[in-house]
Amino acid sequence: MTSESVIPSKALTAELDSVKTEIPKLEDVKLIAAVPQLVRSEIYKTEHKQVSVTCMFQPGYPDVPLVTEIKSKTLGYKFMSGLAKVCDTEAKKYLGQPQVVHIVQFVSNFLDENPLCVCADEISLVKGKLCGAKDEVKLKQKTSQVVLKICQEEYFLNLRMTIPDDYPLRQIVPEITDHNFPEFLRTNFQAQATEAARQCVQPPLKKKPKDPPFVPKPSLRPVAEYVIECVKKYPLEICPLCHERALPVDSTSESATRGKYRVEKVYCGHLFHLICLTKFMKTPPFSEGKFCPSCGKQIFHEKFKVSAKVLEDRWAHKQAKQRELEEVVDFLD
Ligand SMILES: [Zn+2]
Ligand SMILES: [Zn+2]
Repeated sequence: MTSESVIPSKALTAELDSVKTEIPKLEDVKLIAAVPQLVRSEIYKTEHKQVSVTCMFQPGYPDVPLVTEIKSKTLGYKFMSGLAKVCDTEAKKYLGQPQVVHIVQFVSNFLDENPLCVCADEISLVKGKLCGAKDEVKLKQKTSQVVLKICQEEYFLNLRMTIPDDYPLRQIVPEITDHNFPEFLRTNFQAQATEAARQCVQPPLKKKPKDPPFVPKPSLRPVAEYVIECVKKYPLEICPLCHERALPVDSTSESATRGKYRVEKVYCGHLFHLICLTKFMKTPPFSEGKFCPSCGKQIFHEKFKVSAKVLEDRWAHKQAKQRELEEVVDFLD
């Protein structure tokens, strides 16, 4: 703001007059100030999507472009400064003409047409975590969706996240649309992702008296980071019993459900080959329970919900059978 612009030209006076009648007519826009130095308006779309737009007149206006400053308590700083730069380019299209109403309208339309602006900063942080050569982040503004393609070794998973209008008060909806993991892992990733999203916006059922009041949190980044971590981790997991890669190296989903590469996830989260786990669970000692060789946590699994006593009996029975067999073999010798 320089002193020259204090004495408004005829053109500027006329523009300020039209600003005072035109801006209040724009949807979602409120005029805050219209003086020879600047015009300030506020755009309110939702509680979390509101900005203030300040258009500053430079000496020589309107033959030089307006300088626009955009501020928001709710939208990310990086997004705001990017949008202000786009406004500068937009103002240059109207040199020699009134620019303010165009710019304010432009910002208002931009917020409508880019619903993902509510999570722009989260998206750029997620992009930072996805740096594999085959990883992709796609933004679909029309449907308010972010689509991630996450790759590790021969495995991939596509995660589609839909961002609701009243984000972050309501959580994103995560969906795994395509993948080549064994189906039980997809089910597991999907359930955990849905739960992570829910926890961001719903208070815990058992509230501790000293907990501060619950405030909904943005859910895109926690969900995306959880799924990225799973996809990056599991293809490299080693079976704690045979020390080979748990998932098949060739990644065809069928081989993961049969034979050596039938894989099971146990309570602690580690992956085991079913044949390795079965052998381990059916071999004594039983009395103390069975513990994961990788993390030391006790192994719980639906398939092995049998008491130590039953296992002992089975083991004894099998040993007896084996002895009988050996005796027969000895006899034949
Ligand atoms: Zn194994
Ligand atoms: Zn474990």
